[in-house]
Amino acid sequence: MTRQLSTADIRTMFLQFFRSKEHLILPSHSTVAPDPTTLFTVAGMQPFKPQFMGAPATFEGRASKRVTTAQKCVRVGDIENVGRTRRHLSLFEMMGNFSFGDYFKQDAIAWAWEFLTSPEWMGMDPGKMYVTIYEDDDEAFGYWTQDIGLSPDHIHRFGADENFWPANAPLEGPNGPCGPCSEIYYDRGPSYGDDSWADYAQTRESARFLEVWNLVFPQYDRQDPAPDGTPVLKDLPFKNIDTGMGLERVASVVQDVPDFYSNDVFRPLIDRVAELSGKPYEGEVSVSHRVVAEHVRAVSMILADGVAFANTGRGYTTRKIMRRAIRHGYLLGFREPTLYQLVPLVVAGMGEAYPELKTEQSRVEAAMRSEEERFLKTLEGGIQRLGGMLGGLEKGTTLSGEEAFVLYDTYGFPIDLTKEIAEEYGVSVDEAGYAESLENAQEIARAGSKYGKSELFGGNQEALEGLPATAFVGYDQLQAEGQVLALVGGGERLSGLSAGSEATVILSQTPFYGEGGGEVGDTGRLEWAGGSGVVRDTKKTPGGVFLHDVLVEEGELKAGDTVRALVSPDRRATERHHTATHLLHAALRAVLGSGVRQAGSLVAPDRLRFDFSHGAALSPEEIAGVERLVSRWISANFPVSAQEMPIAEAKAAGATALFGEKYGDTVRVVRVEGSVDLGGQTVSSMELCGGAHVRRTGDIGAFVILSDENVAAGVRRVEALAGEAATAWVRERLGQSARAAALLNTAPDALESRVAGLQAQLRAAEKETAQVRRQLAEAQMGGGGSSAQTRELGGFKVASLKLSGIEGNELRAAADKLLGDSGADLVVIASDRGLVVKATKDAVSRGAHAGQLIGKLAAAGGGKGGGRPDMAQAGITDAQGALGALDTAF
Ligand code: ATP
Ligand code: MG
Repeated sequence: MTRQLSTADIRTMFLQFFRSKEHLILPSHSTVAPDPTTLFTVAGMQPFKPQFMGAPATFEGRASKRVTTAQKCVRVGDIENVGRTRRHLSLFEMMGNFSFGDYFKQDAIAWAWEFLTSPEWMGMDPGKMYVTIYEDDDEAFGYWTQDIGLSPDHIHRFGADENFWPANAPLEGPNGPCGPCSEIYYDRGPSYGDDSWADYAQTRESARFLEVWNLVFPQYDRQDPAPDGTPVLKDLPFKNIDTGMGLERVASVVQDVPDFYSNDVFRPLIDRVAELSGKPYEGEVSVSHRVVAEHVRAVSMILADGVAFANTGRGYTTRKIMRRAIRHGYLLGFREPTLYQLVPLVVAGMGEAYPELKTEQSRVEAAMRSEEERFLKTLEGGIQRLGGMLGGLEKGTTLSGEEAFVLYDTYGFPIDLTKEIAEEYGVSVDEAGYAESLENAQEIARAGSKYGKSELFGGNQEALEGLPATAFVGYDQLQAEGQVLALVGGGERLSGLSAGSEATVILSQTPFYGEGGGEVGDTGRLEWAGGSGVVRDTKKTPGGVFLHDVLVEEGELKAGDTVRALVSPDRRATERHHTATHLLHAALRAVLGSGVRQAGSLVAPDRLRFDFSHGAALSPEEIAGVERLVSRWISANFPVSAQEMPIAEAKAAGATALFGEKYGDTVRVVRVEGSVDLGGQTVSSMELCGGAHVRRTGDIGAFVILSDENVAAGVRRVEALAGEAATAWVRERLGQSARAAALLNTAPDALESRVAGLQAQLRAAEKETAQVRRQLAEAQMGGGGSSAQTRELGGFKVASLKLSGIEGNELRAAADKLLGDSGADLVVIASDRGLVVKATKDAVSRGAHAGQLIGKLAAAGGGKGGGRPDMAQAGITDAQGALGALDTAF
C-alpha cells in the first residue's frame, strides 16, 4: 500500500481524528521528564500521571477528560542498536489519546482500529493487522473479536512482561497507575521475514510483524505487595485510557518504505550526510549515515529543550548520544565539525510542530559545534590509543577496566563508545573493573578538593564543642554589641588575648557574615573598653557557630568581655555583587534558555564570579543582552526582600534552588520585587539564599561583565563587577585604549582601523624582506647554481651550497631553485642556522631519503632534524660541519 502522506500529515490527521472524538489537543511536553522517575520523557502518558491518579483534568484553564498529543519521547536504553536495527529511534514521536475516567477499553479499541484501517484515515489493510492482549483480559478479547471482527488466530495472549504497563508492574512495581495493554501489529509481509504470527508467540522479536500502537488500560493503582509477596493491585475509582502510537513506524508502513531512514523525515538528512561525506548511502558504512542522522535529530530536540552537554545526568546522556554520532561521522571521514550543519534540516522538517527548534536553532548549532570541536580533538588520540590496546588482544578476550578508564579519563571516551569499538575487534570490556577505577578516581578527587574539617577550623574543632549557635544580626545592621563567649587558639580555649596575638573569637551575637553560599566572610573591627582588634575573616561551622579570625591591636581581649562588632563598609560592595549575581543568573536563563544551571559562585567585595552549565561560548550579543537586562533591573530600583518560609512553599512559589544542594525545612527566599521585560518574556528573580543583599536594585549602581570562559566541559564562568568596581574598571579600560591610541598617534575611535592599517604595512614589509632575501640567496647561488659544489655520492648527483643570512622559507625556496637549475638528484643547502635537503622524485624512487640524510648532517652541524624522503630540514649551528659530513653520509 502506498499513500502520499507525509509524516507531518499523519501527525495532524491523528490529532484531528481524536478532536473529532471530542479530545482536547495539547502541545507536547518537553523531552525533559515532567517527574524525577526518568531523565527524559519516555511516553505520551508521562505528563498526565497526576490526572490518572485523580488530579483535576484541567489544562491551561480548560477542563477536558479527553486529551490527545503528539509527544516527543527519548529512549536511550539500547542506544547501541539505533542505526543498526531499524525499529528503534532514540527520539521518536508518540501519538496518544488519553481518557481520565471517561471512555474506556471498548472505545479505545474501536477508535484505534478506525484510525488505522479506515480508507479515510490511514487505510491499512485490515487483513494484515494482528494484536496481543494481557493473558486474562477477556474483556479486550471480546471487543477485538466481536466488535471489530478480528479472527482469534490474529491474537496472542502474553504475560505481564509484554502486555502490562509498566512491564511487570504487578510483581515489580513501580507503585501507581498501571494496567493491562493491547498492542497492535502490522504484517509487513514475507519480504521482511519468513516467520509467522504463530512463531511470534515464541520469538517475541520480528522484523516482519511491526508493533505500531500500544493501548494501555490503566485501571489499577499498584501498591506495596503483601508481606508474602502477593501483588496488590487496587481498582482505581475510575478507569483510564493511555495509548501510544509510534508516528515514525506508522509513517514507514503508510509510505511503504522499508524503514524510518527512507521516510520523508530522515531521507533528507541521510542524503545530506552522503553529500557532506562523499560516501553514498550503501553497504556497511550506511550504519554511520543512520546513526548520524538519527542522533543529530535527537540531540537537536533535547538541546532545544534547554539541556546542555555535561558530565552528569541528562547532560551526560545527551553528550553520549552526540559523541556516538561524532564518532560515526569520523568513520565517514569528518575531521572538522560538520554535524551541526544538519540542524537546519531538522528544523525544516520538525520546526512547525516543535517551534522551540526554531527559536533555539542558533544556540543548538553552537553547542553542537563546540561539542564536535572538543570531541574530535580527543577522538583521534583515543582511537589510536584504543587501536593499540585492542591490537594486542585476541578475539574473544576482554579489555581491562583500567584501560577503559584511561580512555575515559584522558580522551573523554564514554564507556559505551569503547565497548562499541572493542566489539568491532571481537573484544569485550570489563565494565565492573571500569566502574571501580572510576569510583577510585572520584574518591581521590573528593579527598583532594575539600579541606579536612580540622583544617577548616585550624585544629580547633574540639575546643569549639558545646558552643551555642551564634545569633546573626548582620542582614539589617553592620554594627552590634556581643559578648565574647570563647577565645580559641592552638586547639585550646584561651582566657585572654593580648595585643599582637591572633585567635578565633566567638561572640554571643554578630553582624559579621560567615563565609557560605559563595559569599566571602566579612572583615571589620572589634572594639571594647580599653582595646581593639581587626577581624580578618569570618567563617561558620555547620552547627551555626560564627568564627571571627581576630588580631588584637591594642589592649587585651578577655572571655566575657562585651565588644562592639563593626563590619567593614566593604560589605556593602559584597551585597551589590550578591544581588547582581542573582540578577545575572536570571538574565542568563532568560537569554540563553532554561538549561542554564548554577554550578558555583563567588561573591566578594571586589568582584563576582558565576559558573553555570552551558555548552557554548557566549556571543558578544548575548553578553550585551544579559548586561542590558541586569541594567534594566538596576534602573527600575525594585525593592529586594528576604523572607523565611517552609521549603515546600518556596518551591511552589517558583524559587530557584540549587541543584544538589541540601536545604533545611525552613529556607530563606530572596526576591526582587518586580520583573523586567525581554521581548515580551517577563523575567524575575527569586532564589533560596542565605546571603547578604542590597535593599533596592538601584543600590547596585552599575554592572559590567568582564569575561566569559570555559572552566570545565559544559561549564562556563562569567566574571562581572557591580557598583564602583564596575565604573572603575570601565574607566581603566577607557584609559588603556586612550594610551594605546596615543602611542599610535590616533584617537581611540580610530584605534581599530589604525591597527588594521599597521598590520597591512607590516605584512607588506615582510613580503619585501622575503623578496630581498630571495635575491640575496640567488646572488649567492650564482647563475644556474654555479656556486654550488656538485659531486657523485652513493650513486646520486649531489649539489651542496652554503648561504649566509638566509633562513626558513627562503632556504627552502633556494633549495627548490637549486634542484631545478643544477639538474642534481639531491641538493643540500646550509646556512648559519638552518639546513635543508631535497631530493627529486626519481632519486627517491632509487632509494634516496632526505630525512635520513639530514639526520646525519644535522648531527655533524650541532643540531637535530628529520623529515620526508623528498624534503627535510633541521636547525643547526655549524654549517661548515654539516656540509663536511656529506662525503661520509652515504
Ligand atoms: P518495542 O517493543 O517495539 O520496543 P515498546 O513496546 O517498548 O516497543 P511502547 O512503550 O508500547 O513501545 O510505546 C508505544 C509505541 O511507541 C510503540 O507501539 C511503537 O510504535 C512506538 N515506539 C516505542 N519505542 C520506539 C522507539 N524506540 N522508536 C520508535 N518508535 C517507538
Ligand atoms: Mg509496546
